[in-house]
Amino acid sequence: MDRDYSNLFALRGLVLYLIPFFILGWLIGYLWETLTLGLAGLVVWHYYYQQRLTKWLWQSRNLLPPTAPGSWSYIYDGIYRNQRRSQHRRRSLARLLRRFREAAEALPDAAIVFRKDGSLLWSNKLAQFYFGLRWPDDAGMRLSNLIRHPEFFSYLNKGDFSEALTIPSPMRDSLDIEIRVMPYSDDQFLLVARDVTQLKQLENMRRDFVANVSHELKTPLTVLQGYLEMLGDVENTPPAMTQKALTQMQQQSDRMKNLVDQLLQLSRMETPSHDVFEHVVDVPTVLGELRQEAEKLSADKQLKLVFDVEPIRVYGKSDLLRSAMQNLVTNAVRYTQAGGNIRVTWRKVRDEVEFSVEDNGPGIENEHIPRLTERFYRVDADRNSDSGGTGLGLSIVKQALEHHNSHLEVNSKPGAGSRFWFRLPAGLIEERLGKAKSQKR
Ligand code: ADP
Repeated sequence: MDRDYSNLFALRGLVLYLIPFFILGWLIGYLWETLTLGLAGLVVWHYYYQQRLTKWLWQSRNLLPPTAPGSWSYIYDGIYRNQRRSQHRRRSLARLLRRFREAAEALPDAAIVFRKDGSLLWSNKLAQFYFGLRWPDDAGMRLSNLIRHPEFFSYLNKGDFSEALTIPSPMRDSLDIEIRVMPYSDDQFLLVARDVTQLKQLENMRRDFVANVSHELKTPLTVLQGYLEMLGDVENTPPAMTQKALTQMQQQSDRMKNLVDQLLQLSRMETPSHDVFEHVVDVPTVLGELRQEAEKLSADKQLKLVFDVEPIRVYGKSDLLRSAMQNLVTNAVRYTQAGGNIRVTWRKVRDEVEFSVEDNGPGIENEHIPRLTERFYRVDADRNSDSGGTGLGLSIVKQALEHHNSHLEVNSKPGAGSRFWFRLPAGLIEERLGKAKSQKR
């Protein structure tokens, strides 16, 4: 609504209003008195409409202004128009704010806005979850009082946000939260936090892994180096010593090769694949080969080996399944004392198929069992590294089984023996042979 309200227009209105009083005053001979009366009426009229405006502005809930004649209609309309305009602006601002908050809630990171003095302005749900903030109850509170951690406190106080800070979540110690702070507007800051627990774990694993591999390679390399130095002095080395050195060097290089092969196998297994149904693994044949290997390995120890194998073939990855079974059989042969018994079974249990290796060897203390499948974990590092083990065998088994939707189970009693076993799901059994009668080998 655009109306032209000029000074001339206002003056013309005043003149038009006073003309009848002027004529009347002139006719009755009381010109000034009549004009004064007219002007007094005008003041009362203005006062009345001014009162109505005040009432409407302060008391009325109605958005529409009261109707008013003359110049007051311009004032009422003008105010109404401004109110509408600011209401419209407020609404679009609120919409914008809502959209911004929705976007901030959708962020995969926690977000907190705070003032230069450290008081909390706003936080999204994830921030409330990570730091235990309550919204809106905590609005205006000091961030350093809400997130109580000495490192966070000095980070905020220092005001140097060029680097990120990682602290444990005040809600759960096991969560590591990385915090970054960015200046947001003149006196506001945006704090973005994300969960880096997994990243940190991976980083630790990588560091441990490199340390372990280096450690494992160092021993055989030192032995090799020693013998090489000794062999350098050909004239002073007795032939018997040379022979011993060569045998030792052969053993150590076998050990290194074994380690590198197992590492490569593990890294190959890390790539996920979906072709588990592509090949059928003839487990009875694989176990026949493993039996021969085990017999050769255990020849000096006079172990009693029993293989009880049902003719069941399964879908799967032949090299992975073979390697899982081989590691379990080799471990039993390696750790069982001379004259001990080992029993390997492959049989149907309800609708699944079970592979089990049982021995009456030294057994394993309960506390070690959950850690056996960790890379490089050995129950007795000193004793077992002499046995040629790398501590990678059971982690290879674990990973190989994951490719077949299965996992390793261990029952063991120190002094009595161990049973390592796993079951493959019914869906992996090749029906044609699975239905055949069990056959003792
Ligand atoms: P390693 O190469 O040292 O054998 P593994 O991952 O195969 O590594 O095994 C981890 C540890 O579990 C071994 O160091 C050994 O202490 C223990 N272990 C595995 N199998 C047996 C078993 N049949 N009897 C007793 N201890 C075993």
